[in-house]
Amino acid sequence: MKIKNIYESIEEVRDIIAEKFMSNYSLEHVYKAVMYAFIYAALQRSRGLSSVDLLRPLEKKIPLLLVAAARRQLVDKMHGLAEYVEEIISADSPVLIRDEADFKQIIDNVKDQIGSVDYVFVYDCMSLIEKLVASAYLSVKGIKTIFLNTIFLNPVGLTMYMTQQLSDTKYRPSLQGVARYAANQLRASLYMKNPFIDVEVHKTGLLGVEEFADRVAIDKIVNEIMYWSRKGNILVFSDHGYDVIARPNENYLYVVHGFRRRDSSGSIPVLLLSRLSFFMATLKG
Ligand SMILES: [Zn+2]
Repeated sequence: MKIKNIYESIEEVRDIIAEKFMSNYSLEHVYKAVMYAFIYAALQRSRGLSSVDLLRPLEKKIPLLLVAAARRQLVDKMHGLAEYVEEIISADSPVLIRDEADFKQIIDNVKDQIGSVDYVFVYDCMSLIEKLVASAYLSVKGIKTIFLNTIFLNPVGLTMYMTQQLSDTKYRPSLQGVARYAANQLRASLYMKNPFIDVEVHKTGLLGVEEFADRVAIDKIVNEIMYWSRKGNILVFSDHGYDVIARPNENYLYVVHGFRRRDSSGSIPVLLLSRLSFFMATLKG
C-alpha cells in the first residue's frame, strides 16, 4: 500500500464503521468490534497464530451479529491498514533521521494543512483504533473529521521520545508541554493532555486485550472530543499508541507499549500500533 493512499483507506474504514455499525450498536461494542477486526486482519498476516482461538476472549464481549458483520465488512479493509503499519515501521531508512520522527517538523506540516485550530488535545497512548471510532461516532453526529496527511513516528513507542524533542525550547519536556507547544504553533486557545489510556496500560503492566478494551472509557473519550468539537475546531493526536502481542504458549493476546523484539518471554508482535500517531482534526461547518 502506498503511503499517499493510507489516509483515504483510513477514512474509508471510518465511513463503514459510521454507516454500518454506529446506529445499531453501543459505542463500547463498536469499539471492541473495530479492535477485533483490526487484530483479526493482523493475525491472518502472522503465520502460525490462530485468529479464532486468540480472539475468543474479546469476541465473547461483542454481540454475535456484530462480530459477524465486523468479519464480513471490516477485516478485508483492515488488511491494508495492517500492511501499512508493518511497512512504515520496517522501512529502509533509519527512523531517527526521517522527517516523520521530527515532532516540530510534524507540527509545521499540520499547520501547513489546517492553519489554526481552536483546541489541541493530546491523548497519551491513543491508537488508530480509538481515533477511527471517535471519527465514526462524530460523523454520525454530523461532525466532520479529517485524518491529516501526516503521521508521527515513535520508533520506541514511548512518551519520552516525543517530549524529549522539546528540550531545546522553552516548553517543558512533558506531554503537557507538547500540547502547549502545538497549541501555540496553531494559535489554539485551549490545550489539554489526557493520560487515561496510558494509565490503564500501566496499571498492571500487562493487560489482556479484552480486559484492556473493557477498561478504556471510550464513551468518555469520544464524548469529550464531541463536546469541544461543537464549540470549535479541534486537533487530536497522541505521542504513541499501544502494541498487541501474542504469547503462543499461553494462547493469549496482551496489550503493552514499547514492545521490544528481544523480549525474552516468547512474545510475538501482532499489531505494533505504538510506533505511529495519526492526526485527526474536526472541522466545523
Ligand atoms: Zn505515553
